[in-house]
Amino acid sequence: SITDSDPTERSEGTAPDPAPVPPAWRLLLGYVRPHRWALCAGALLALVTGATGLLLPLVARGLIDDLAHDRPVTGALLGMSGLVLANAAVGGLGSYVLRRTAESVVLGARRALSSYLLRLRISAVDRTEPGDLMARITSDTTLLREVTTDSLVGLGTGGLTLIATVVMMGLVDAVLLGVTLAVVLGAGTVLGVIVPRINRASRQAQDAVGAMGASLERILGALRTVKASGAERREEEAVHAAAEESWRQSVRAAKWTAAAGNTAGLAMQIAFITVLAVGGARVATGAIDVGTLVAFLLYVFYLMSPIQEVVGAVTQYQTGSAALARIQEALRLPAEPPARPAPLPSPGARPAAIAFEDVRFRYADDLPYVHHGVTFAVPARGMTAFVGPSGAGKTTVFSLIERFYDPESGTITLDGRDVAEWELSELRSAIGYVEQDAPVLSGSMRDNLLLGNPEAQDAEVARVLKTTRLDALVERLPRGLDTLVGHRGTKLSGGERQRVAIARALLRRPRLLLLDEATSQLDAVNEAALRDTVADVARSTTVLVVAHRLSTVTTADRIVVMDAGRVRAVGTHRDLVTGDPLYAELAATQFLAAAG
Ligand code: ADP
Ligand code: MG
Repeated sequence: SITDSDPTERSEGTAPDPAPVPPAWRLLLGYVRPHRWALCAGALLALVTGATGLLLPLVARGLIDDLAHDRPVTGALLGMSGLVLANAAVGGLGSYVLRRTAESVVLGARRALSSYLLRLRISAVDRTEPGDLMARITSDTTLLREVTTDSLVGLGTGGLTLIATVVMMGLVDAVLLGVTLAVVLGAGTVLGVIVPRINRASRQAQDAVGAMGASLERILGALRTVKASGAERREEEAVHAAAEESWRQSVRAAKWTAAAGNTAGLAMQIAFITVLAVGGARVATGAIDVGTLVAFLLYVFYLMSPIQEVVGAVTQYQTGSAALARIQEALRLPAEPPARPAPLPSPGARPAAIAFEDVRFRYADDLPYVHHGVTFAVPARGMTAFVGPSGAGKTTVFSLIERFYDPESGTITLDGRDVAEWELSELRSAIGYVEQDAPVLSGSMRDNLLLGNPEAQDAEVARVLKTTRLDALVERLPRGLDTLVGHRGTKLSGGERQRVAIARALLRRPRLLLLDEATSQLDAVNEAALRDTVADVARSTTVLVVAHRLSTVTTADRIVVMDAGRVRAVGTHRDLVTGDPLYAELAATQFLAAAG
């Protein structure tokens, strides 16, 4: 399964009630719906192809008749060539239209899934393997292609052709039809046993592809650490094990698919021989003539392809519905409502006030509380530092402000309004947030800076580059702002990544700036410069900073001391050094050491 606990829980406020899960075929029809007319056109062409094929035996019977009675055969020959040509042309066109439609179905599913991915709640992502999610979007959707062409269309055209062929056979000779159907029914019974096994094996094969994606993502996400730890062999084994499991299950599915196809093929051979024997006897007794027997045998021959088509449709659907089930699981993860574009604050926008009132929170129902009633109030404007031992819940404060998670009880207000009542994109557009690990995305320097404000003017970018002391770096880069920074910004130093992240947040002109240990990797000179910048920003914006350096803390307007999910004390450095033993200890050891 995609998660290790019930994914429908804890979606209060952000997600609409989780919709009941439709069966796989309903999901498939949903993706096919926009293309139903193209699909019908393709199916119609396939039917016409089948029909032109069905006429051939009749023309053949005419040809044999003409030969037997010494009549000229040019008409019958011309008719046959025309039919064969039409069959090829219409068949080719039909197959193109169908394949094209199937690709559109895959595209639709990929778009829907990737949009959903971007809306996933962080709590859902916490419990998911990103590599497995990725496999669902890339690999499982691919399987919808065959389901669309082979299953939907195969079942439609194959089924209709089958019925038409059976009707024609009945018109030619009812006795021989009875013989044929008896054989076909016997084969159907065997297929009923085989087909469910294909579904099971396919599901396991796709799950193994997901596990392989998860393994790969884990390795590529920390390749340096894997190499430095000499763990290549063990990690390689994990990937290979998943790949081999997928192979094993796919081979199992292939075995049953082949068995299904061969059962159908064998049934047709048996039908052919039986019809030949029974039909030959009927010719000998004069019940039917040779032309009728030949025509019927040709129909048995033609029955082969629709039967294979229907059997293929059913087996393919088993593979496809395994993939559809995996797609459905991803679509059931709790998600935020679709983001509406919200304008960024204008340059002079007023700063925001923020308050926590008795906030209790845990990351999941089976985990301990991280906030046991956190309360504090920060007025608009100025700098507030959050300090406390690691694990105290400081980062969680920021996550709750951004509504990556919702508290279990208590309220968080921005400008006096509960954040739960804010339109999510509107709330986030008011905030500039620098994560603890200051992530830089792959792409160019410019992509990274403008991520939160693609419309930022050059002058504004230049100013922010200067205040974050990135201007010298950009000048040194071979292609300036267009230089690629590598996967996760690996071509930058830790301090440079932090400054890029701060610049990115500043370009959003936030009314509330959240800096989570954002200067931890800066050298003393850059740190001092950034401190001045932040102090400057704090004159017009509300700044919350998780700080670990005495220099940052002493200049803050107020300090919130957190410990084990509670606010211990709030005050200035001077108040707290004498008033709070934990703070005094932190100031003496942690801050001073780091500041040293
Ligand atoms: P701080 O920033 O003060 O060091 P955090 O707010 O990051 O502390 O974390 C507080 C506690 O919550 C820690 O014990 C941590 O292990 C836990 N925690 C943090 N993030 C998650 C998460 N996504 N899922 C489960 N537990 C988490
Ligand atoms: Mg933290």
